[in-house]
Amino acid sequence: MANLRFEAVAKRFGSTSVLEGFDLEIADGEFLVVVGPSGCGKSTLLRLLAGLEEPSAGKICIGDQEVQDLAPKARDVAMVFQSYALYPHMTVRRNIAFGLEMRGLPKAAIAEQVLAAARQLGLEDLLDRRPAELSGGQRQRVAVGRAIVRQPKVFLFDEPLSNLDAALRVQMRAELTALQKRLGTTTLYVTHDQVEAMTMGDRVAVMEGGKLLQCATPRELYERPANLFVARFLGTPAMNLLSASLGSDGRSLDIGGQHLPLPSPFSEIALGPAGRPLLFGLRPEAVHTPDDTQTSRPTLRAEVEFIEELGHESLVHARLAANRLTARCAPRQVPKLGAQVDFTLDLRAAHLFDPTTSRRIETAAA
Ligand code: ADP
Ligand code: MG
Repeated sequence: MANLRFEAVAKRFGSTSVLEGFDLEIADGEFLVVVGPSGCGKSTLLRLLAGLEEPSAGKICIGDQEVQDLAPKARDVAMVFQSYALYPHMTVRRNIAFGLEMRGLPKAAIAEQVLAAARQLGLEDLLDRRPAELSGGQRQRVAVGRAIVRQPKVFLFDEPLSNLDAALRVQMRAELTALQKRLGTTTLYVTHDQVEAMTMGDRVAVMEGGKLLQCATPRELYERPANLFVARFLGTPAMNLLSASLGSDGRSLDIGGQHLPLPSPFSEIALGPAGRPLLFGLRPEAVHTPDDTQTSRPTLRAEVEFIEELGHESLVHARLAANRLTARCAPRQVPKLGAQVDFTLDLRAAHLFDPTTSRRIETAAA
């Protein structure tokens, strides 16, 4: 087992910079998920750690050892790819055994380890099949089996669930998380899927354009996103972000001509001159259609534009001047299309962002 460290790592392909000043540390035994849109450099990060690419600058450490100059074989990492990369002409047994055979392990030891890995993954009955005779989920398990049988210091996963259908993805998320906890192997897992990231990672690192924006627990990222990108990227439906300006008393926000009192941590700090532009953030679960129990809450009036009925809840999308406002409602509390509704707001969960820097406005009270 080992911790991992990227220190000021850069990667350029010719004149294209893919990673810049990348710092990240992963604790021994941790499951860290890197999430970001397609093309942000996630696979490059894994390939650098596996030794399939060389960094243009910086250090990469596994445990106490700097590995950027080591051959891939010497790094003791196992990678699982989105495409599974199984050998089509080999049985499941040989696919799993292949890495051990290459290392010249005795046959009996290989057979024992393959069986142990197959048991972990529920593959015992499939060992004599070839990949073409397996479902997508089974193939994925074989790819994982091939990684765990080597008992590496580190697992690297590159979007391993992207080719599975939705139900199987949910199941495999739970299985992989449980397997990692059982084995306790340090794991770096990359995905573009924010739900996967939030449900699987001990911590989640959000990347954009080759840069690390924030790395924290899922809850911390959700409750205190460091900037607008993280705020927008995590959470479905996305956080409401309304253009606002600071009221003349410095204690309120003007949102399309309506006034909201600044919630408590923000009302206690100096936010700048009256009229200062701000983005006011509030997740849809903190916005409600009017109901008798919340009469003391502040409100914003908006016109209902469309409604998504999801069965257990409804999403009400409304317009307020140039802004969109989404509320999560109990199905019985859904207003009519076109209605002007005074949505009640739970401002305890409000965020403010600086539209010029995109950064969250921090308050001392955490
Ligand atoms: P992700 O896995 O997040 O989708 P990648 O790490 O695969 O992103 O790629 C990041 C960027 O680097 C992309 O713009 C991609 O086109 C570029 N890139 C990746 N590999 C190469 C390469 N071998 N040569 C040139 N550009 C590359
Ligand atoms: Mg990729």
